[in-house]
Amino acid sequence: MALTATESATSTASSFGSAVALSCRECGSRYDLGPVFACIECFGPLEVAYEFGAVTRESIERGPKSIWRYKALLPVPEQVESLPNMNPGLTPLVRADRLAAELGLRSLYVKDDSGNPTHSFKDRVVAMAVEAARTFGFTTLSCSSTGNLAGAVAAAAARAGFRSCVFIPAGLEEAKVVMAAVYGGQLVAIEGTYDDVNRFCSELIGDPAGEEWGFVNVNLRPYYAEGSKTLAYEIAEQLGWRLPEQIVIPIASGSQLTKIDKGFQELVKLGLVEDRPYRIFGAQATGCSPVARAWENGYDVIQPVKPDTIAKSLAIGNPADGPYVLDVCRRTGGAVEHVSDEEIVDSIKLLARTEGVFAETAGGVTTGVLRKLLAKGVLDPEAETVVLNTGDGLKTLNAVAGTGVTATIKPSLRAFKDAGLL
Ligand SMILES: *Cc1c(COP(=O)(O)O)cnc(C)c1O
Ligand SMILES: [Zn+2]
Repeated sequence: MALTATESATSTASSFGSAVALSCRECGSRYDLGPVFACIECFGPLEVAYEFGAVTRESIERGPKSIWRYKALLPVPEQVESLPNMNPGLTPLVRADRLAAELGLRSLYVKDDSGNPTHSFKDRVVAMAVEAARTFGFTTLSCSSTGNLAGAVAAAAARAGFRSCVFIPAGLEEAKVVMAAVYGGQLVAIEGTYDDVNRFCSELIGDPAGEEWGFVNVNLRPYYAEGSKTLAYEIAEQLGWRLPEQIVIPIASGSQLTKIDKGFQELVKLGLVEDRPYRIFGAQATGCSPVARAWENGYDVIQPVKPDTIAKSLAIGNPADGPYVLDVCRRTGGAVEHVSDEEIVDSIKLLARTEGVFAETAGGVTTGVLRKLLAKGVLDPEAETVVLNTGDGLKTLNAVAGTGVTATIKPSLRAFKDAGLL
């Protein structure tokens, strides 16, 4: 590891706010806060450990209208909101009465993350990685991406003044490619799946050429992953400082799901919400459902698959956090379920038609799983439920291709009446 990086980490410990160490999720070994991501003892993944000071609802509510209102619970410096960053978050929690009625649910909300700066939830995680990259003195921001991350990294790098070079699998949606390219960094398509891209990035990190590179979801992953906790904090605050009873979360690597659980637990521990049971449900596309299959079969390990689904943002065949997702869903009394591409498209339209929310395919996956688990009697129709939409439908227009004008007519009242539309 680059010496300069380690030095700057120790000399600027307060750059990480209340974070005090990295700890191994498998064996508990602790490490200084640095650009490391795997345990030397057991190769387990590292995560950020904190010693929180006093945090109150009022101190949070007085904060900025972005994820930085929760900065006391994140690995970021006190003055974070004054640094050049995309300032994502505080996206709407939409009360979804019409969808609830259609599905036979008593109380439903859609946490709609499509309104983030680059139109997906990824701005939350990248915001953490940017701060870590700054502290460690990296000069290039990079990532392996299923699409949304590429755009989020390229944009954040442009704003914060990093060089960027991001890697995607060839064949992504046009909107995601354009969005990743427009910010002026390098965008490299790799002939292969996301898992191939990820392997390639690990190789690059091991090479001296990659020494000054911060890969947001590899060597900065412990920091990056913490950004997903802000979804948990926002949902609880927007519900009036209360945890939902059920929540449906999409799974790509599984990081978001496990960190939402971590966020809920922190809120309970800090006394910011009442301790009440919540159930976490994971959602995958049938064409890439390694975690759902492990769940069905009662396995503890994930068998990698080769993805084939329109839900490209979730197409990770070998999800790093898969086993932890299984743990969380078991512990909370949840489940992991999958839906077909056809059900994804149907569900995108259902959510748009009932709530005016245009989801990307990942939102079709969660809405589809919500519907399926209700039909199966796995979800409780009486319990307060939140479903996540993590991306914008404008990025996956092909999924709803064929949706278009009702009629094309001459500009006359007569023509309108003749078309039978009145
Ligand atoms: C990346 C992504 C997710 C979740 O990713 P995890 O790797 O599971 O944290 C969910 N939805 C969208 C749209 C994404 O781009
Ligand atoms: Zn370990």
